[in-house]
Amino acid sequence: MAFEPVIGLEVHAQLKTRTKIFCGCSTKFGAPPNTHVCPVCLGMPGVLPVLNQKVVEYAIRMALATNCRIAGESRFARKNYFYPDLPKGYQISQYEMPIAEHGHIHITLSDGAVRKIGITRIHMEEDAGKSSHDPSRAVSFVDYNRTGVPLLEIVSEPEMHSPEEAGAYLRRLRSLLRYLDISDGNMEEGSFRCDANISIREKGAAELGTRTELKNLNSFRFVEKALAYEIKRQIEMVKDGEKVVQETLLWDVNQNRSVSMRGKEEAHDYRYFPDPDLLPLVIEEEMVARIGKSLPELPDQKKERFVTHYGLPEYDADILTAGRDLAAYFECCARQVKNPKTASNWIMGELTALLNACGKTIDESPVSAEDLAKLIALMEDGVISGKIAKAVFSDMAETGKAPDEIVAEKGLVQVSDASAVEPVIDRIIAAHTAEVEKYRGGNTKLLGFFVGQVMKETGGKANPRLVNELLSKKLG
Ligand SMILES: [Zn+2]
Repeated sequence: MAFEPVIGLEVHAQLKTRTKIFCGCSTKFGAPPNTHVCPVCLGMPGVLPVLNQKVVEYAIRMALATNCRIAGESRFARKNYFYPDLPKGYQISQYEMPIAEHGHIHITLSDGAVRKIGITRIHMEEDAGKSSHDPSRAVSFVDYNRTGVPLLEIVSEPEMHSPEEAGAYLRRLRSLLRYLDISDGNMEEGSFRCDANISIREKGAAELGTRTELKNLNSFRFVEKALAYEIKRQIEMVKDGEKVVQETLLWDVNQNRSVSMRGKEEAHDYRYFPDPDLLPLVIEEEMVARIGKSLPELPDQKKERFVTHYGLPEYDADILTAGRDLAAYFECCARQVKNPKTASNWIMGELTALLNACGKTIDESPVSAEDLAKLIALMEDGVISGKIAKAVFSDMAETGKAPDEIVAEKGLVQVSDASAVEPVIDRIIAAHTAEVEKYRGGNTKLLGFFVGQVMKETGGKANPRLVNELLSKKLG
């Protein structure tokens, strides 16, 4: 029996507003505990929430970027549960009437295949506080700075069928949030969090199997690992004649396995009801149109333009448009060189390797786009060879100097002048009479040997094409 996993993802993205969703407290990360709080976000009796308009605008931006239908009227609801990090005893969220529904995005897989994944809904809600526990002293702490920080919850359709698809979906979602400049999408700081619903079914079956929910997935690598683990676990259970139990699981990063957290709660456990303190939210078409006009070029459009305008392969365009900064870096480079594909190769090859090695992001790159473009231009103009260019690049990364400066300082200019190369070749031929004889006797493979000798003699600066040409002539 062949099984097919079915995956749906819920993402909580923290919005980059200056203040919280229902009060004027700062949303800044990393402040001392309980310094960004007020009676509203602490849930004191008698206070009233006031909706932050920026949150609504950001939600509309994301809804448009994910092709959602935006509701003319939506509502906030109270989601009731009791936990120390939730001072009101309920979270203000949206339930039956979310701000946006019925959207989709496109994801690209490693084999180049493009898939459309449905977005069920997007809604706005407030974040809870943060508890921390000290088992050695048997005490717990709670920090309410995060209470009331605005979140977008983005729920996908259960339409993904492999950990790779789930990973691609999450990366694309985060890329959109960053393009729109509404969330920093930082998983480590918890501003991009993901829960996954997973079930398996017989391949071709229409019905969904019993699902489990995986929580605490705080890196892309863990998401893919945890999903692969959970899929395997469920398949083995069913093969052994057992039933999958609906439950909430936590991913244990140290032991690489999922552990049961609690039986899964149903929506009715939360006793949702419309929040009487907040009016229904009415969004006029004019506002949606105005926000629509302000959207930047999004990854799909940018990718298409990179293919048509710069003649890049789809694969390159997909990678280079994953982030806005990376795309800008490429464009800056591509505009200054003859062949944009060469810029793409250098960015995806040498530059990416350099950034990975020093743990930096593209906007912290030790080699600027202008300098990389200059380096490529030196190569395109035949001033330096490709091999020398790589050495110059390492120097640029280390010293921060411009490529022409390094080339001049170290005397690395490629020698393409036949009158300068010829004497060297004559010397080499004169010094290796035995090899010359063998070559003339038919062992033409020895040409490589002579090229190597000339390159060694010239410190790698001789133009290889010229060396080959002259050698063949003189030896033949
Ligand atoms: Zn507050």
